[in-house]
Amino acid sequence: MNCLEAQSKIMAFIENKLPDDELREFIKHVRSCKNCYEELDIYYTLIVGMKQLDESDNISTDFKNALDKHLEEEMNRLTTVKRIANSTILVGIAAVVAGLIWLYSGALDKVYNYEQNSKLSEQPEYYYAEFFGSRLLDDSRYDLSDIDRYYEEQNKVRDESTEFMQNIKKYNANHKGIE
Ligand SMILES: [Zn+2]
Repeated sequence: MNCLEAQSKIMAFIENKLPDDELREFIKHVRSCKNCYEELDIYYTLIVGMKQLDESDNISTDFKNALDKHLEEEMNRLTTVKRIANSTILVGIAAVVAGLIWLYSGALDKVYNYEQNSKLSEQPEYYYAEFFGSRLLDDSRYDLSDIDRYYEEQNKVRDESTEFMQNIKKYNANHKGIE
């Protein structure tokens, strides 16, 4: 706000008619500009003094102090209004961010579970792939007794991990209704 703008708003300021955004700029200007402050001081003394005469109030002798107090109070009010607005915005942003994180971690869990489950269900296929070949792609073309044959032909000893794979195979078969 320049001096011309500030001085054109002096009357509106004294009558408390400035909207908050203009009021903030106005106070900033008169606090840093000696000329405009003096101009404001003159008008303020005149108008507030006449008003006090009209209303036969006790006429205050220290108008400058009254003006400074008025400027101070308005600035404090504006700062509070701004702080409340800012904190409302911050709370809103925080809520949105928290919501996004919640959605994101939920989605990650789903992807992770899906990956784990699909890995788990594919493991037996990979494990026996060499032996069964393309038949593995079709559940109806081999059964669990084939796995016994696998161990016989390969002369392999069943250990815990192969039992585990077989259990998974069995589990998958049960849940597909193929046994
Ligand atoms: Zn000025």
